[in-house]
Amino acid sequence: MNVSVVLFTSDLRLHDHPPLSAALEGAREVVPLFVRDRGVDAAGFAAPNRLAFLADCLRDLDAGLRARGGRLVVRSGDPVEEVCRAAGEAGADEVHLAADVSGYAQHREERLRHALEADGVRLHVHDTVTTAVPPGAVAPSASDHFAVFTPYFRRWSRQPLRERLRAPRTVRVPDGVGSEDLPSHSGVSAGLAPGGETEGRRRLTAWLRRGVGAYEDRHDDLAGDATSRLSPHLHFGTLSPVELVHRARAVDGPGAEAFVRQLAWRDFHRQLLAARPDASRADYRPRHDRWRTERTAGADIAAWREGRTGYPVVDAAMRQLRHEGWMHNRGRLLTASFLTKTLYVDWRIGARHFLELLVDGDLANNQLNWQWVAGTGADTRPNRVLNPVVQAKRYDPDGAYVRRWVPELAGIGGAAVHEPWKLRGTDREAAGYPDPVVELSEGLARFRRARSRE
Ligand code: FAD
Repeated sequence: MNVSVVLFTSDLRLHDHPPLSAALEGAREVVPLFVRDRGVDAAGFAAPNRLAFLADCLRDLDAGLRARGGRLVVRSGDPVEEVCRAAGEAGADEVHLAADVSGYAQHREERLRHALEADGVRLHVHDTVTTAVPPGAVAPSASDHFAVFTPYFRRWSRQPLRERLRAPRTVRVPDGVGSEDLPSHSGVSAGLAPGGETEGRRRLTAWLRRGVGAYEDRHDDLAGDATSRLSPHLHFGTLSPVELVHRARAVDGPGAEAFVRQLAWRDFHRQLLAARPDASRADYRPRHDRWRTERTAGADIAAWREGRTGYPVVDAAMRQLRHEGWMHNRGRLLTASFLTKTLYVDWRIGARHFLELLVDGDLANNQLNWQWVAGTGADTRPNRVLNPVVQAKRYDPDGAYVRRWVPELAGIGGAAVHEPWKLRGTDREAAGYPDPVVELSEGLARFRRARSRE
C-alpha cells in the first residue's frame, strides 16, 4: 500500500491523532487534507471568531507538518468531492477520518464511504479522536444512549482509555497534489484567544501545573477566571480529549477530578447528539412551550444580546461574550436561564446568538447546554430558575466581574453593584445604566404559568 489521504476536520493536531498514525503505519506517503466546507458556510455555522481561530489552527498544523518534511493540503468545496479528487491525484487507496457526532458529520461520512467505494478506495473511520469515550461505547440496557449524566459518568469513568499516540517524526507528502493558500481571517471580538496546536499544548501544560489544582474550589468564581479556557482547543481538536483525561488523571486531587468530570460532560453531550441528531434543533424532551420570539419579545431579546437588560451580572457576561468570543460557564448558565426562563424566549434564539460569537461554539455542547438550561434537555430539574441577583452575590461577591465588563457601574463599590435600582436617584442617573427589562417576580410567574400548562 502506497498512499493514504487523512481528512482533518475537528481534529487539527499532530499529537495523539489515530487517523494520521494509522495512515503513516500503512502507507509510504500521506496527503494531509483540510477542506474548507462550503456547506458549513452555507449553513451559517462559519462565524468570524471561529474562522479566525481556524486560520491559526491551519497555519500551525501546516508548520508542524513542514517541520516533519510534509505540508498541509487545503481545498475549498464539497468535502466528498475534494477527498475523491485528492485521492485520485495522489493514487491513494485509503482514506482516514475521525468519527464525529452531528447529523451533518454522520451524513458526510456516509456519502464519503459511498463515493470512495465506487472508486475502489477504502474508508477508515477512527473513534476516540474527538471524544475520550466513543458515543455508544457505554449505554443503558434499554436505550442506545444515556439521557441523564450521573449514571453515564459512572460508566464513563470505568471505561478503559486507549494509550496516547506520539506525534509522527516524519510525514512524506506526494508531489503533484495541489493546495490553495492557507486562509486568513479576522474575528469580530477584540479579545479573541489565538488558536493552534502549539498554543493549545502550551495552555494545557500551564493549566495542569498551575490551574487545575484549585479548579474544584474556584471554577464558579466569575471574576477569578479560574477555568482552563481549553474549550476552543477541544472544539477544533488542537488538543486530544484522550490525552487530556490521561494527563489530568496523572495529577492528584479534587481539582483534577472535577476537571475530568467536565470532560465527561463533553462526551455526554456528544453521545446524546450522536443518538439524537435532531436535538440540535428540536426539543429533546418537549414541554409544550409556546416561547416568546423575535416577533413578540424583540426589544427584550435585543437588550439581552447587547448586554443592557438592567441586571448587571447578565449584562457583564453578555458583554464578555462579545468582547472575547468566550464566556465563563457560570455566565453561560445564568444568561441562558435569564433568556429562556425569566424572559421566556425560545432557547434556539439564544443558542444562535451564542454560535455567532463563541470561539468554542459547538453544536453538541451549545445546543444541548441550552436545552439543559431551558428544561427541554437532560436536566432532571427542568423547571429550576436561576435568580440573577442571588447568582451574582454568590459567584461575584464583591462585584469585581460586573465592574470589569460594565463600565457604567465601575464607580459603585462592593456587592451594591448587583442591584443598581436600589441606589439613590442621583447616583443612578450618574451611572446611566438601564432599568431592569422585567421584574424578576413577574418573569418567574410567567414561566410558572407557562410550564403549568404542560
Ligand atoms: P473548563 O471549566 O475548564 O472545563 C474543561 C472542558 O470541559 C471545557 O473546555 C469543555 O470542553 C468541557 N466542559 C465544561 N463544562 C461543560 C459543560 N457544561 N458541558 C459540556 N462540556 C463542558 N461549551 C463548548 O465547548 N461550546 C459551546 O458552544 C458551549 N455552549 C454552552 C452554552 C450554554 C448555555 C452553557 C450553559 C454551556 C455551554 N458550554 C459550551 C459548556 C461550558 O460553558 C464551556 O465548555 C466552558 O465554559 C468552557 O470554558 P473552559 O474551557 O474554561 O471550561
